[in-house]
Amino acid sequence: MTTDLERLAELLRMRSRHPDVLSVYLRLGPDPSELRSVPARLDVAFGALADRAGLDAAHRKAVTAEMAAVRRAAEHAREWLGSGVALFAAGDLGLFDEVRLPHAPEVLAVLDIRPYVRPLLEARERSRPYCAAVVDAEHSWIGTSGPEGVLEESRLTTAGPRKPDYGGWHGLTEYRVRNRAERIQQRHFRRTADLLRQAMCERDVDQLIVGGQEHTLSRFLAELTADLRERLAGTFLIDPHTMTAARVRTLADGVADRFRHDRYRRRVRQAIDEHAAGGLAVTGLEACLEAVGERAIAQLFVRADDRACGFACDRCGVLSLTGQACASCAGAVRAVPDVIGEAIVLVLDAGGAVDQVPGGTELDGARAAARLRFPVTGLSA
Ligand SMILES: [Zn+2]
Repeated sequence: MTTDLERLAELLRMRSRHPDVLSVYLRLGPDPSELRSVPARLDVAFGALADRAGLDAAHRKAVTAEMAAVRRAAEHAREWLGSGVALFAAGDLGLFDEVRLPHAPEVLAVLDIRPYVRPLLEARERSRPYCAAVVDAEHSWIGTSGPEGVLEESRLTTAGPRKPDYGGWHGLTEYRVRNRAERIQQRHFRRTADLLRQAMCERDVDQLIVGGQEHTLSRFLAELTADLRERLAGTFLIDPHTMTAARVRTLADGVADRFRHDRYRRRVRQAIDEHAAGGLAVTGLEACLEAVGERAIAQLFVRADDRACGFACDRCGVLSLTGQACASCAGAVRAVPDVIGEAIVLVLDAGGAVDQVPGGTELDGARAAARLRFPVTGLSA
C-alpha cells in the first residue's frame, strides 16, 4: 500500500483504451461504527456506473471484478478510520492501488480511461507540508507536518543571563543585565532561525508557521531574515510551556488553511482582473476548456466541488461540454464523466498549474478562470 502521494505522477500517466479504470474514494470518521456503512456506501457509488460508461460485455465483466477487488480491500477498512482512502483498479493496466489521504470525498466512484486523480491532487495541495516553530525568549521547539501529524525535529535552549547581583550601582547593573538578556535573546532567535532553515531544507518544505506568546512572536519575527520571512504563512498564539505537538498541529493547520484560501482568493482575483483588462486570461468554464484544448493555460482555477460531464477528443486534446464532433478535427468525441478532471490532467501534462479552489471566491460565479501563456484563437469562434 502506498501511504504517501508519490504515486501521483505514475497515475497521471496511466491510460486504458476503454473506460474500465475504476477509481474509488472513501472518507471514514474515527468512530468504528462507520465501518458498517462501508459496503452499502460502495454499492450506492457503484450503482449504475458500468451502464453509464457504455461498456461491452467483456469490459463490464472486468469492471465487475475490479469492484469486487475494491470490496475485498474494504474488508480491512478499520485501517482507514479517521482518514480518507483512494483505490484505483484496472486489470488491463495491472493496476490496484490503495492510497491513504488526509482528505477525501465521503464516497465517490468513477469509471474512466484513466485513474481519476482530482481528489488526490486536492489532498496533496491541502496537506502541503509546513515547518512549525514555537518560540520563547530562551527555548524553541521545531517540528514538521506530515501524514502522522506534526513531528518534533529539534529543540533548542539558549542559556539566559545569570541572576543579577545588586551589590552597588543599581541602575547601571540593571541596565547591563537587560542589555545582556537582549543580546542572548537575539542570539537565541538567530540560532532558532538557523535550525528552521536547516529543517526546511532537509525536509524540502517551503512553508513556515510560527507560534508563541504575542510579545515574543513580534520580536522573533522582527529578527527573521528575508529568506524565512518570504516563506512565513502566518503565526498562532500558544503558551510554549504547556504546548503539545497535537495542539501545535491544530493551530498551525488552521494557519495553513487560511493562508491557502487567501492565496486562492488573490490569484483568482488577479486572473479575473487580468481578463477584465483584456490581458492574457479567460473566465468561464467553456472559455477555459477551449484554452485547455489549445494548451494555452499557464494556471487553471476551478472550484474544488465542481464537476461536469463533457466530451474529449483524444486525438487533439480538445474538450467541450456538448457532444458534437471535435471542434478541431471534426472527429468523434469520447464522453468523460468529469470534463473538469480531464482539463486538470491535460493542463498538468502541458506543464501548467492548477488550483482547485474551495467556495467563497469569485469562482462561485465564473466557475473557472485561467491565466494564459498566449492568446486563444478560438476554434469554435
Ligand atoms: Zn479532435
